[in-house]
Amino acid sequence: MAEDGGFGVYVHWPFCAAKCPYCDFNSHVRHQPVDQPRFAAAFNLEMASMRQRTGPRTVTSIFLGGGTPSLMEPGTVGAVLDAVAKHWTVPRDIEVTLEANPSSVEAERFRGYRAAGVNRVSLGVQALNDPDLRFLGRLHNVEEALTAIRLARETFPRLSFDLIYARPGQTPEAWETELNEAIDHAVDHLSLYQLTIEEGTRFHALHAAGKIVMPDLDLAAELYELTQEVTAARGLPAYEISNHARPGAESRHNLTYWRYGEYVGVGPGAHGRFIEHGRRIVTVAEKVPETWLNLVEARGHGVVDGEVLNRTEEADEFLLMGLRLVEGIDLDRYERLSGSGLSPERMSILQQEGLIAPVGNSRLRATPAGMVVLNAVVADLAR
Ligand code: SF4
Repeated sequence: MAEDGGFGVYVHWPFCAAKCPYCDFNSHVRHQPVDQPRFAAAFNLEMASMRQRTGPRTVTSIFLGGGTPSLMEPGTVGAVLDAVAKHWTVPRDIEVTLEANPSSVEAERFRGYRAAGVNRVSLGVQALNDPDLRFLGRLHNVEEALTAIRLARETFPRLSFDLIYARPGQTPEAWETELNEAIDHAVDHLSLYQLTIEEGTRFHALHAAGKIVMPDLDLAAELYELTQEVTAARGLPAYEISNHARPGAESRHNLTYWRYGEYVGVGPGAHGRFIEHGRRIVTVAEKVPETWLNLVEARGHGVVDGEVLNRTEEADEFLLMGLRLVEGIDLDRYERLSGSGLSPERMSILQQEGLIAPVGNSRLRATPAGMVVLNAVVADLAR
């Protein structure tokens, strides 16, 4: 299971209608219409270049992320999916996810996306109360979000939506009520992220100026534990730090990242990690959409950075990604990647501190307490 994490294709649509104040993703606002056929042709060209590097492969998932991919016309989405099928083998039952915003305009395109081959939608709902949606800079309100959820349920076999919690002033009681309401509307998957203040965002400046007061670490930990309890009790347990699913409905695409599988990244700012000539390589594409477009048109790809990972780097990444999962990591695979096992002394100390736990004889996972401080746990283990 863990050895073959799959082979995913990620396509990045880098445009949004407005920039959310907490967002540090590669997203850009353009006031002129985007030339979608030109971008679709560039995606196809970049995939051809990637196909030369990966060789023939069977794709296990496709993910259209962003940015706001639901600003793409259904015809653009269809062209992207056709291009994937032109370059690699795409099985009939493949998971094809599209991230969508729940505005009414975008919800009108759902049928077109379904006809193009999308079978799973991930909706950026973010909050189920209007004041918090306004605070988060979102362009939709609760009524629109609920309408989009209903339409998505009618249109797609699978549906996830995102919520952001640990917002300023949010009490555990308020979050519990909102989370239960969200689960009432959920189908098979929820992504529940704590609000974080990222450098370079508008929230970062407001936070630095004291205008946003974030929950302290104890409250954030309490909200995290509450989230685990409520989702587990309602049949959507966590399978990763921030992701919850009915058993069997986990995002196959995201599992590819966390199980340290391979993926090709296409589009502005996209990252890829796949095996080339027997070594795991990293690709990083130019972030600015128009610059990326010019690069692809001139030379077939927009990759501007990349490296071949050495064994230590691979093993560290495997640890960092795999310990996010409730299933944890396969210790033998870690040993094969790194050339040596994890230190028994360090594992023993972290286990005594209640931060990690063995799973049978061959696996290791982070405990819920360990998940809250995962970066520190990984840094300690990987030393
Ligand atoms: S819609 Fe998503 S990608 Fe776009 S600015 Fe908001 S959070 Fe960022």
